[in-house]
Amino acid sequence: MNIDFLKEILSLPSISSNESMVRDYILEFAEENQILSTVDHKGNVYLTKGKEKMTSGEYYPCVVSHMDTVHRSHIEYIINKERLDIVEDDGKLTARHPNTDKQTGIGGDDKCGVYVCLEMFNKFDVLKGAFFVEEEIGMRGSRESDDKFFENVGYAIQFDAPSDNWISEVCSGVKLFDGEFKEEITQTLNESGYTKFSNDPFTDVNQLATKYDFNCLNLGCGYYRQHTDSEYVVIEEVSNSLKAGEKLITKLGLEKYTHNKITSKPVIMENYDSGYDYGNVDNYDTLYGDEEELDEVSESITELVISMNDQGYDVEDIKDEVAKYLIDNSLYV
Ligand SMILES: [Zn+2]
Repeated sequence: MNIDFLKEILSLPSISSNESMVRDYILEFAEENQILSTVDHKGNVYLTKGKEKMTSGEYYPCVVSHMDTVHRSHIEYIINKERLDIVEDDGKLTARHPNTDKQTGIGGDDKCGVYVCLEMFNKFDVLKGAFFVEEEIGMRGSRESDDKFFENVGYAIQFDAPSDNWISEVCSGVKLFDGEFKEEITQTLNESGYTKFSNDPFTDVNQLATKYDFNCLNLGCGYYRQHTDSEYVVIEEVSNSLKAGEKLITKLGLEKYTHNKITSKPVIMENYDSGYDYGNVDNYDTLYGDEEELDEVSESITELVISMNDQGYDVEDIKDEVAKYLIDNSLYV
């Protein structure tokens, strides 16, 4: 991997609503490498490479990251177009304020993701990339993502989680991929050291998985202690994330992986324990429990069981999937 390239991206200060230094850097990278770039009304950046190589029936893989960080004290550097000092020590990178030499958050969340995405453009001839603004203040950039850009995307891989062994499966209550896609990716991910599937708060693929019909996933990309002044980056783990991304895109190719979504409203019985922590409030717009609604849920579960049975899953797998469905949708019935 190119450590200087990583350090350069990490040295760019960028905070929510003030992402210009990272955005300009990406646009310059695109121009130097003859990659088509567009910026939407929110300031999100979209890259497209290899349009002329696409044949009919093919879809783009899409890599995703967000350009903003939470380190608001960096605003003065953005105004002055100054960079952070990046210090390398024993395989770890940290950042310092250029004026005071005091440690500050390096913003590996998610500039490590930006780096990994750009390296993917160095490796692949056909690829799309989406770089969002304002992820840290409620995914405001990806909420308004350009639908047209995603029309010919076959799957999306975001790099925005700590460490090098982190796969988000459920993101703020939204399932990012279905069972079939999970089977497709598990072995490749395991070979790259990614074994831990987890249930996470939010990142941009939450929006993409909600709005579009392709499978998404989110991988760790080597940052730690995100959102704090002591945030740091482990070079080796960023490198592992690169390798995982490369293997995954090589394996998945230029195909469309449609996300089989089970659609049903969340249901909670009326006599639920009001002291219980139901997690993300967004999922509980509708608290109801009448028979009709319960029938709807039963129907979804029945459909899930029948479809898994038809596909030849065994009883244990089906039980697991139903249990996950109940947890993911917080169905306390
Ligand atoms: Zn992030």
